[in-house]
Amino acid sequence: MKIDTKSDILDILKMPYEMYTDKVAARAREIHRKINDNSLIATAMLGYDNICKNQCLYCGMRAGNTNVKRYRIDRDDIVSWAKIASKIGFKRIFLISGEDPKYGFDNIFYFIEKIKALGFYISLACGEFSKEKYNEFHAAGADEYVLKFEMSQENIFNRLNPSTNFRKRMQCIEWIKESGMRLASGNIVDYPGQTDEMIAEDILLMKKLEISWAPVIPYLPAKGTPLAAEGGRGSVEKNLKEISILRIMMPEINITAQQPGENLKNGLADPEGNLKALTAGANILFADMLPPKLAQNFSVVDNRITLGLEHIKNMAKKAGMKLAF
Ligand code: SF4
Repeated sequence: MKIDTKSDILDILKMPYEMYTDKVAARAREIHRKINDNSLIATAMLGYDNICKNQCLYCGMRAGNTNVKRYRIDRDDIVSWAKIASKIGFKRIFLISGEDPKYGFDNIFYFIEKIKALGFYISLACGEFSKEKYNEFHAAGADEYVLKFEMSQENIFNRLNPSTNFRKRMQCIEWIKESGMRLASGNIVDYPGQTDEMIAEDILLMKKLEISWAPVIPYLPAKGTPLAAEGGRGSVEKNLKEISILRIMMPEINITAQQPGENLKNGLADPEGNLKALTAGANILFADMLPPKLAQNFSVVDNRITLGLEHIKNMAKKAGMKLAF
């Protein structure tokens, strides 16, 4: 099965769900088995700062959301948590924050250097900055940077993300690539008004950008945000189809398996949602390093439940995959 063109992608997005699971999801799993040794990658996650100056209309951590208990973790404490992650056996770490200008670049460079010295592959996500700053993140030791383009339609991006704009986002993405860091990027799936054609364009953009990791999830506007008032949520099935398409088009990338189920009470930590994503071709899950009381405030989407390594091991067993670090 080859998926190259917009029309190939549309055929799958419009396909009856059963036909998709039989043909496309099965092919995606087969590719993952052959090319990536059927591995499920366990990664440590540290949401080190949940303060954000931005106002993305769907995000639970947007500056205007006053219900969130905000925190910033001290740079030496971040390094201590990374040391614990290293002792557990993690080799990859995802360091993520809101866009918080007050955290201080020197502090970020400091913990990246210390954590790199522990031997970690570092994925970093802390927002939009200048070309020089991305170069400096890379020089300090960051291997990969996560900046989602969210949607390839400029006018919709500009409405949903009023603190920035699409051109600036794409410029930052270009600078990240030029810095030498790998780029993790992707879209929001199935927001109200999004057509299959738009999803196909997003997928083609991911391919063009040669992403290393697709952190894609369905549209899930958080409580208390302007878009929650407009209603709606993204389709799990549409998201699974996108996961399989990505696996077939870009066999070696990582794809997030932290996904919701039909019932949103478990947020992205839903065992059924995670398992379905793995069955569709996803391959990476995250274990929170912070204590649940703190980590649950890293609440981009609702019902933030923290996950540990046990959950990842269970998922690997249920999905018949090999646990990798
Ligand atoms: S999506 Fe990211 S940048 Fe936007 S408000 Fe949420 S944390 Fe901030």
